[in-house]
Amino acid sequence: MLVLGIETSCDETGVALYSERGLLVDLTRTQDVHRAFGGVVPELAARDHIKVLPRLVKAALEEAGVEAPQAVAVTAGPGLAGALAVGVSFAKTYAQALGVPLVGVNHLEAHVLSVLLEKEIEFPFLALLASGGHTEIVLAEELFSYKVLGRTLDDAAGEAFDKVAKILGLGYPGASRLEEVAREGNEEAYDFPVPKLGFNFSYSGLKTAVYYAVKRGGEGALAERLADLAASFQRAAVQQLLDVVRGAVEETGVRRVAVVGGVARNSYLREKFSKEGYEVIFPSPRFSSDNGAMVALTGYLRLGDGFRSSLELGVYPDLELESSDSLYFPFGNGSKG
Ligand code: ZN
Repeated sequence: MLVLGIETSCDETGVALYSERGLLVDLTRTQDVHRAFGGVVPELAARDHIKVLPRLVKAALEEAGVEAPQAVAVTAGPGLAGALAVGVSFAKTYAQALGVPLVGVNHLEAHVLSVLLEKEIEFPFLALLASGGHTEIVLAEELFSYKVLGRTLDDAAGEAFDKVAKILGLGYPGASRLEEVAREGNEEAYDFPVPKLGFNFSYSGLKTAVYYAVKRGGEGALAERLADLAASFQRAAVQQLLDVVRGAVEETGVRRVAVVGGVARNSYLREKFSKEGYEVIFPSPRFSSDNGAMVALTGYLRLGDGFRSSLELGVYPDLELESSDSLYFPFGNGSKG
């Protein structure tokens, strides 16, 4: 079955085609309209998806040399309501016009399963999902069965990287620039906090600590301390992730860990995780950020197991991983929020 996957939950428009043969096409376009505003503007995100999505779908079908997909999978939540609505409206209309099944996809489940795009992985595994919008540690017991062990109590890890980059004057989105700058710095220069919250995370205290460290030194001298600040922040931010995952490995006895979401692109983080002694799996960077491929794959797997969404499917901005089944017959008719 040839499944079209559509992702529009935030500022990436992603379209992909997945079938028995694997991933056929994967097109992602990152919006840059938000740069000038220093953060994602929901209204602009939705408007840009409206313009880009149809063109991207057409390009994907052409690239695969097919007329139409045999099913349409779409991210239905969580995410920005207006942005999600663009993808879901398009998917419902397109699926109905073609007379093919519609499958709503939980964006968080798609991130967890993104590791299966490139590799066969046995369940159970632990998944650390760290992105600009989410930070959670999940036990993937088996396909479609997840237990969230902990999550962030305030900011997401990726959000902290972007906010601190802004505090350091590195622009927006500045996470990758911060990583570059940190390479030249001393990560022990500042003793930033690493909270101990069991399986939960917190990043607001760390962000505030960086803010005051910058202020204390005076703006003029920031340039000389920039690399040390960036390196010390990065160490503290990643240490928290390492601590929680180590705790989860010990508690569950599961020694296979997938690190997914945009933050998994950070090479300092990759290096640290690789030295932890358990099996660690990273998707390629293009599958770490939001993409249509993980949505197409999740839709493909769900369809294969008999899951369908109805045309009542809505958008679910606060959808949780453990509520994924509410998107499908017979659990919620795809109409439960
Ligand atoms: Zn995401």
